[in-house]
Amino acid sequence: MKKNLLFIPGPVTVPEPVLAAMSKPLIDHRGPQFAALAGRIDAGLRPIFGTEKADIVLLGSSGTGGLEAAIASTFSPGDPVLAAPVGVFGRRLIAIAKTYGLEVDVLETELGHALQPDALAQRLAADTKRRYKGVLLTHNETSTGVQNDMRALAPIVRDHGAISIVDSVSGLGANEFLMDEWGYDIVVSASQKVLAAPPGVSMVAVGARAWQTIEASTTPRFYFDLLKAREFARQGQTPWTPPVSVLFALDAALQHYHHEGAKAVWHRHEMYAQAIRAAFTALGLPVFSQPGAHSVTVVAGTVPAGVDAATLLRKLREERGVSLSGGQLELKGKIVRMGTMGDVSQTDVLGALGALEMALLEYEHPVHVGAGVQAALRVFLDLAGGSRPDAARTKAPQAPEQTPAASR
Ligand code: PMP
Repeated sequence: MKKNLLFIPGPVTVPEPVLAAMSKPLIDHRGPQFAALAGRIDAGLRPIFGTEKADIVLLGSSGTGGLEAAIASTFSPGDPVLAAPVGVFGRRLIAIAKTYGLEVDVLETELGHALQPDALAQRLAADTKRRYKGVLLTHNETSTGVQNDMRALAPIVRDHGAISIVDSVSGLGANEFLMDEWGYDIVVSASQKVLAAPPGVSMVAVGARAWQTIEASTTPRFYFDLLKAREFARQGQTPWTPPVSVLFALDAALQHYHHEGAKAVWHRHEMYAQAIRAAFTALGLPVFSQPGAHSVTVVAGTVPAGVDAATLLRKLREERGVSLSGGQLELKGKIVRMGTMGDVSQTDVLGALGALEMALLEYEHPVHVGAGVQAALRVFLDLAGGSRPDAARTKAPQAPEQTPAASR
């Protein structure tokens, strides 16, 4: 089988022991072995969500199912909510909310920027009658490579009192998240991103305040009902047949995560993201996210004039075995996105960036040969710590030779 380096922002490369866990014989999902499995997963997820108090329910779905369950279960038709999208996935929350008959007000943010805490504070302060029943936020916006400052946003939502729903599908686990301490009500994530398990399970953490609203919700729903999910979760089960094999994998993935250690996982994502940003900049693909708004799980680079994004991505995949993603909706053709999540090594990152560089050299786009790889390498050497002698670390970089595309 031809080797493929998967650098899309999910699903991601799954470590071998996690993949192997899926080949275990199936078990009775109403029996004690399953309850033990669910219990281990629950215990493994708690520190990642930063909660001891919330109920965490597992749904047999991708992340969107978790988001739909959260919105449909929490509010009632006609409820006013404020959505603060910063990209495509934030807009998906709006689409779900409208599907369930909510009245959605939108606080817009320019693409590439993070939600400004002041803007949210102003908007919520203007709601003097406290009409908004909910606030819909995105932790990490995968479509633009932007990460919101969830610690800074939390007190603003709490002061207002609306129930917060946080889409952390592509964020949770990659940096500190303290649901209880910050006071978020519902946080949704999924198996196939930072945790590096296969897709198929979404995890929804629900706090006490949210349960009160959920108990009062009149929205029609059946499969994606958090109340039913809680009732079964408390017995170590799920209401419907769960994706048992994916849960075996999630269990193994959580062991893998905690074996590496949360801080090491955060550092790895931060380091890869910095390296990729440095490489994109050196290659003339300006980073799309604004300073202070950079995601650690996905980097978006602006495609230079004269380069056709779709062809570039196809050639990378077909000729060099490297999968990156393109832009979505109005960013289609304008950006490429490279994920940092999953079982990928520094060597894989350097290889993928080298492949990107070679693919770019086929265009008229002027590239300093080795500039991208060198920029990434310097980040690794500076941030990895102890991987080379100090003398080498302090040596000034040599200006890379400029090679015209035609003479590559
Ligand atoms: N929200 C965010 C921020 C995402 O990155 C994604 C997946 N890329 C989703 C929601 C939707 O998740 P899924 O594709 O697992 O349904």
